[in-house]
This record gives sequence, structure tokens and C-alpha cells, in this order.
Amino acid sequence: MDQQYEQKIRELEKENRILAKKLHRSRTNLAMLEETNDRKEALLNQVISDQKSAEIALALRSEENAKLYQQSQANALQLEQALNELRISEEQVRQQNEQLAIALRLKDEFLATVSHELRTPLTGILGMSELLTGEFLGSLNRQQLESIVTIENCGKHLLSLIEDILDLTRIESGQMDIVLQPCEIDKLCQISLNAIASVAAKKNIHLNSIIPANLRTIQVDEKRLHQVLDNLLSNAIKFTPEGGQILLTVEASHQQLHIHIKDTGIGIPAEELEHIFDRFFQVDGKLNRQHGGLGIGLAIVKRIVGLHQGSISVFSKVGEGSCFTIHLPYTPTLPTDGEANQSYILIAENDHTTARIVIAYLKSYGYRFEWVQNGEEAVRYAEREKPALILMDIQMPIMNGLEAIKLIRNNPNLQTVPIIAATALAMQGDEEVCLQAGATEYISKPFRLKHLLSRIDVCLIEQRDQRNTK
Ligand code: ADP
Repeated sequence: MDQQYEQKIRELEKENRILAKKLHRSRTNLAMLEETNDRKEALLNQVISDQKSAEIALALRSEENAKLYQQSQANALQLEQALNELRISEEQVRQQNEQLAIALRLKDEFLATVSHELRTPLTGILGMSELLTGEFLGSLNRQQLESIVTIENCGKHLLSLIEDILDLTRIESGQMDIVLQPCEIDKLCQISLNAIASVAAKKNIHLNSIIPANLRTIQVDEKRLHQVLDNLLSNAIKFTPEGGQILLTVEASHQQLHIHIKDTGIGIPAEELEHIFDRFFQVDGKLNRQHGGLGIGLAIVKRIVGLHQGSISVFSKVGEGSCFTIHLPYTPTLPTDGEANQSYILIAENDHTTARIVIAYLKSYGYRFEWVQNGEEAVRYAEREKPALILMDIQMPIMNGLEAIKLIRNNPNLQTVPIIAATALAMQGDEEVCLQAGATEYISKPFRLKHLLSRIDVCLIEQRDQRNTK
């Protein structure tokens, strides 16, 4: 029995130990579980707090978005309104422009009509004055004659004002055409200077000019260029006090001719210079008002110079004077009825087409020429006729151009005759070969006829100048 009991107790103790171990394990597990729970809870709390912050941020952002949206709506509205206003003003500007164009056209037509209508009675006034001053209707005493001359002068002045208005309307409506013709520059300037000499003398103004002697003709519309010079010169006189000076100088630079008209007059304030060529603009000076004028002269001058592909510039200093300069395109060409006509150009060219084209072109500029087709003939002709210039092709049969040039240069009478070598080879070194052989100029084919003409002119002018300085 005791044994049984002891056995039972041992079993119970064993069970107790197992239970104690299990209890311990459960406790450890519980502790671990509790720790995990704590961590989970902390994590949960963090998640909750993050979510809350995110919700707040979202709420704030949507508030901001809403505001931005409202703002953009307002902006779009404003833009739409601005666009509408712009459309309305554009339409108004368009209508105003249309009205302005109509008004301008009507004004031009009106001015043209008025000018035309005024010219008819003026013809009567001027014609009658001429008859009276010429004493075709009987003799007049001195006082009567002087009165008629005054009437005539006033009539002429009125006519020039009317012409100016007509010119301006013609220019504005694009109806002024110019006809370019070769004109001698010094003659052109001299005529304008002579025309105002008596007016200058009345004011005791010294009128001088410096025009280089070696200038050639210029392609201009003679009548219109006189208008330009007359206008600038009469302004110079008008705005120069008694005893002043006016100087007209001409200068030729690379492809341009510059005509300066300088006075010692009242000058123009710097801030007015940019408006000086505007129509109806007048500097509000005392002398200006005293002398009147329509304020369109310079506008006409600028436009006429523009029609010649030229330009006008001005330098001025108040109290010291002004200098107006017109710049015109200028390719020196010899007068067609002068020296050029007397100058024979020898064309040595074996290509018939080239020769025909060159001949036709030179002919239209009044040059005389002789055409030969090989070097031998060229030498023979040159020795016999002594041409003013030789245009020498290089590749020619019988005798080539280089040999011909050398032979021509060997002749003491032909050492200075300009020879323009023209060749289609145009290889590097060709030019040197031609120049070494004795050519004055080298031109490669195909050449522009205008370029050839300018080379011919330059050679002839240089040769003439050399002759003149000897
Ligand atoms: P107008 O001489 O008929 O007034 P212009 O168009 O010829 O008209 O000239 C415009 C203005 O330019 C003149 O009124 C004058 O104020 C100024 N002006 C022109 N030329 C000169 C000059 N040489 N010296 C000073 N002022 C000048």
C-alpha cells in the first residue's frame, strides 16, 4: 500500500514538474505575446496618426486646389474679357484705318484737284505777266514793269508751291516715276548753283562748290535731281542769315556719289533731326516762320532720292549750321556721246555667241568696236588702229590670247592700252599668267555684262586720267 502510495506521489511529482515546466513556458509565451501586442499597438497607433496627418494634408491640399481652381477660373474669365476687348479694339482700329485710308485718299485727290484747278488760272496770270513784261501789249513805264515783275514772281512762287503739293501726292500714291539717264554731275550741280546764285547774292551769302574734275556721268532723273538740289540749296539760303556761307561738295566713293550741301545757318536742334524729313514738319524757329514754306520740301527730297535707290542724311548744330548729304548709287560710266563713241574697243573672241552678246551690250552703251576671231588678227588690228581697249579671249585658234597680249605689249605704241583678258579656264594661277603676259585686268567667264562694262569703264577712266596727268 505504501509502495503504491509512494508510486502515486512520484507520479504526481512528475506531473507537477511537467505542469510547472508548461506553466513556465506559458508564462514566457504570454510575456512574448504581451510584448508583441505592445509593439503591434504602437505600430497601429503610428499608422493611425500617420493616416490622420495624411487626411489633414489631403484636406488642406484639396482646399488649396479648390482655391487654385477658383483662381484659374477667374483668370480664364479675365483673359476671355481681355480677348474680347482686344477683338473690339482691333475691329475699331481696322475701321479707323479704313476711314483713315479713305480720308487720306480723299485728301490726296482733293489736293491733286485743287492744285490742278489752281494751275489753270495761274497759267493766265503768268502768261499775261509775260506778255506785259515783254511789252507785247504796249509799252509800260518803270513802275508798271516792276509791278508786273512782282506779280510774275509771286505767280512763279505759287506755281512752285502747287508743284510741290502735286509731287507729294504723286509720291504718296506711288505715281511718281523717274527716268534714269546718264547726266554729267558737275553740270547738274552747276545749273542748280546758278539758279540760286542771285537769291544768295541778295542775302550776301557766299556760295562755293568743290566738284572733282574726274567725275563721270551718273544715272539719274535730271529734272528730279535738280528738284532735290534746288530744294536743299534754297533751304540752306532760307535758314542762313545774311553774310553766311554755303558750300556744295561732291565726293565719289566705292559705288556711291555723295553730294554735301553745308551751310552756316541757324542749325536744327538734335531732338528735331529725326522728324526733319516728315511731311509738314517745320522746326518752330523764328527764321523759319519768317520765311514760311509748306514743310514738304525735305519729304519730297527724301522720296526722290529713295526712288533713285539712294539715301539722305543730315548733321546739324544749332547756331553753327547744317549739312545735308545725298548718297546716290554711282557706277562711273563714260558719256555715251563723248569719248566712248570715239573709242574703239577691240573684241578678240572666237566664240560667236559670246561675241554677239558682248557687242550688242556695248553697242547699247554707245561704244564702237571691232571684232576679230584669233590672236594674230588681234595683234594686226591693234598695231594698225590703236584701239582704246582690248577685250582678249585667251583660248583662240591660230594664236592664243596670251601670245597676242605679249606681242601687243612689245609694241612701244601699245604699252598702255588697257587689255582685259577674258577666259573660261578660271583655274588657280590663270589670273597671274594673264597679268604677267601684260593684261591690265582679268575677268573669268561666264561674266556678268554689267561687271564687264564697269571694268571697261574703270580701265578707260584710269587711262584717261593717266593721260591727263602727264
Ligand atoms: P520748308 O522749308 O518749306 O519749311 P522743308 O521740308 O524743306 O520745308 O524743311 C522742313 C524744316 O526743316 C524747315 O521748316 C526747317 O525748320 C528745317 N530745315 C530744313 N533745312 C534747313 C537748314 N538748312 N537749316 C535749318 N533748318 C532747316
